Amino acid sequence: MSINLDRVTEISREVAAGVDQRLHLVGVTSTEGGGDRVELLITMSGCHVEPCMHLLNVSRAEADVLEREVREKLQTALTAHRE
Ligand SMILES: [Zn+2]
Repeated sequence: MSINLDRVTEISREVAAGVDQRLHLVGVTSTEGGGDRVELLITMSGCHVEPCMHLLNVSRAEADVLEREVREKLQTALTAHRE
């Protein structure tokens, strides 16, 4: 039983804010063909690259897995940014 999209939105918002206050979740869509994966569209305000957008493909099978994936992928994206 996967997490519904409202809950995915809520969890992703919290995780994004925890990683960096400038991150904003602007969209959540289920992937083609369904399954447990969803795509998150996240922007970062004040970035030197405008518009700054990150598309993350994450699992919504379980809340803790979702949380971890969002956090890891955002941290990777931010690290890539600073280089
Ligand atoms: Zn950026």
